[in-house]
Amino acid sequence: MRSLFPGIVGQPRATEGLTRSLSSGRLCPSLVFHGPTGVGKLATAVALCRVLLCGSGAERPCGQCRACRRIDERALLHPDVRVVFPEKLSEFEKGEAAPEGTAATDLQEAQAEAVRNPVWSVLMDRIRQSIAFLHRRPSEGPRAILVVDQAHRMPAEAANALLKTLEEPPAHAALVLVTSSYHALIPTIRSRCQAVPFQLVPRSAIADHLAARRSIEPQEAELRAGLSGGRIGAALDLDLAEFSRRREVLLGLVEELLRRGDPGIAVARAEGIARGGESLDGDLEILMTLQRDLLVCGAAPQRQGGDAVLVNLDLASRLAELADRFAARAPEAIENLEAAIDAIRRKGNRQLLVEDVLLGLLPDPAGPPS
Ligand SMILES: [Zn+2]
Repeated sequence: MRSLFPGIVGQPRATEGLTRSLSSGRLCPSLVFHGPTGVGKLATAVALCRVLLCGSGAERPCGQCRACRRIDERALLHPDVRVVFPEKLSEFEKGEAAPEGTAATDLQEAQAEAVRNPVWSVLMDRIRQSIAFLHRRPSEGPRAILVVDQAHRMPAEAANALLKTLEEPPAHAALVLVTSSYHALIPTIRSRCQAVPFQLVPRSAIADHLAARRSIEPQEAELRAGLSGGRIGAALDLDLAEFSRRREVLLGLVEELLRRGDPGIAVARAEGIARGGESLDGDLEILMTLQRDLLVCGAAPQRQGGDAVLVNLDLASRLAELADRFAARAPEAIENLEAAIDAIRRKGNRQLLVEDVLLGLLPDPAGPPS
């Protein structure tokens, strides 16, 4: 069966299921796309809108017709598609007077902004407006489609308002809820929608996509894919220059700690890293990739260099040199780091946590001299 979602990478379960439902004309009008962030859920929802609204008589979506051209993730202009995000109440109130559908919406930007502002929610008034939109006759195509991104950020009031429409949608309506927290949706919403699960994308699929479709050099594609943790969005968004700069600093520190074993350095540098503010989370993630790679090098030294298992492939020889020293510290070091990442996300004492991480790298005083 020809896939109706040719641009979606590494989600065979979701796209094949949707393709089957669409081909047999039995698509459930209320869907929940759920799974990790950055794996293509919103992109798939947009692609679904194209399939449903494409004006071509032959292969859909054609990508060429007037409808297809106006359903674009970077510039949504189609009057029969609404995509709703968590947003700021005061902005919404200001913008309400503006005529609807006159400006193209950049969905990726709107999504990123909603992610950056975790206190925003999907507004009750926006949901009310969207329900009215679904009940109106579509202005051009056969369908009116509402997509609610980060749907778990709908307050109960808004979710309850949607329930009736989910139960008895107008014949022309389709509704897609997109969420990374399926179980944070209220059960009555979940039970009325068909769940479409998304998963982390295999590293090789991301690397192939970056190289083939985005014309990224294979080596860089491999590095981006390895660092993305299975999230194609993260692979594309990564600021590689900034990442490399921080990684160099952190690897230098790991080298120094593993070689010199000076607690004073650990404590002093922990303070600097902890003060890094927003980049702390990123720094610890980089440390994690370095430690995992050291573990891999230590476990399979003969495979170092060009081994695709490493995330930081370009550092293979430097990592291999350190792997032996790290091996003795590995279980504790990795455990400390995981605990710190977790605790910092829950707002622990940054400096003490980073200190633990760095002290965990010091050679054991009772162990063999290095
Ligand atoms: Zn088309």
